[in-house]
Amino acid sequence: MRKKTVFVTQPYLPPLDEFLPYLEKIWSNKVLTNGGPFHQQLEQELCEYLGVEHIALFTNGTIALVTALQSLRITGEVITTPYSFVATSHSLLWNGIKPVFVDIDAKTLNIDPQKIEAAITPQTTAILAVHCYGHPCDVDAIQEIADTYNLKVIYDAAHAFGVNCHCGSVLKHGDLSILSFHATKVFNTFEGGAIVCPDLKTKIRIDQLKNFGHAGETSVVAPGINGKMSEFNAALGLLQLKYIGTAIDKRKKIDQAYRAKLSSVRGVVCLSDSGEYVSNYAYFPILIDQEYSIDRDELNDRLKAIDIHPRRYFFPLISEFPMYRGLSSANTDNLAVATQAASKVLCLPIYPDLAIEIVDEICDFISRQ
Ligand SMILES: *Cc1c(COP(=O)(O)O)cnc(C)c1O
Repeated sequence: MRKKTVFVTQPYLPPLDEFLPYLEKIWSNKVLTNGGPFHQQLEQELCEYLGVEHIALFTNGTIALVTALQSLRITGEVITTPYSFVATSHSLLWNGIKPVFVDIDAKTLNIDPQKIEAAITPQTTAILAVHCYGHPCDVDAIQEIADTYNLKVIYDAAHAFGVNCHCGSVLKHGDLSILSFHATKVFNTFEGGAIVCPDLKTKIRIDQLKNFGHAGETSVVAPGINGKMSEFNAALGLLQLKYIGTAIDKRKKIDQAYRAKLSSVRGVVCLSDSGEYVSNYAYFPILIDQEYSIDRDELNDRLKAIDIHPRRYFFPLISEFPMYRGLSSANTDNLAVATQAASKVLCLPIYPDLAIEIVDEICDFISRQ
């Protein structure tokens, strides 16, 4: 019998002894931060692994988001999704920008491009979209709208590390993409994040903004923040990168096991694995609909009672939090699909070291209710 608590995720860690040589290097060269050798090497290796041109590393994904908006000089109103982690919208408030929520697509749970145009006003300057659960947004449709109305596009790609769509890395779309390397993400540096940018000029500006706005020893050109990644985190990233292939393969097996077992359960819908993109298997969301014997919250409670802890990502919607719910776009009439999804979704445990026996146990339990 299983004695262990099963959480929705568990961080993947490389062998500890392999990290010691990195620490010895830091201790001997005494470069702890400010774009040291590990920082430079990780930027380079991530560009190669992800297939992107330029990356600026950050202390976390949230500061990367805030800085990305600042670097593009975004102001006024920005169109975004309510169906995400709260950091997405918070990054707008930190820049004094008004979020305008647009409903999501029922299949992908990403922002619905067909509903964007109606939300555009003379104050709109950008679209901040999220590749939710790593599922690529309809990037072509979003870009077309952005081109028509002269808007910038920023992707919160915190879930989309290593995801490829029809034309290579999904991170190449829009003006900038943001990654998170938080402990709970597919690729982690304990805490960390990055901005993926298309050209060197933009990267230089971003690098200045994450370092207080310094442009050389005696010149400060913008009110920047301290968003730098330390050498410790960069070293961890270099070691993690050696194991990322194995980690994603293990996730894939778990994803497949869930799909095989849950496909026959009435009222349980697995989000599509359309085969149209290369997934990173970051999450395993299911939707519990009326045909299932009990509702989502009851299933969540019953799983918790046997010490299995799924998560209701994303419930509540961002638009329901106190600092957002007064906005007219936060009205549930405007967000019918997102409201439905938030009431039905349950993210099941998925992480590289999750035993298939536990996946079986979870699936059997769900089919028995
Ligand atoms: C994790 C996450 C963030 C924030 O990243 P941190 O590195 O934890 O600051 C932002 N957006 C989404 C969608 C996330 O899942």
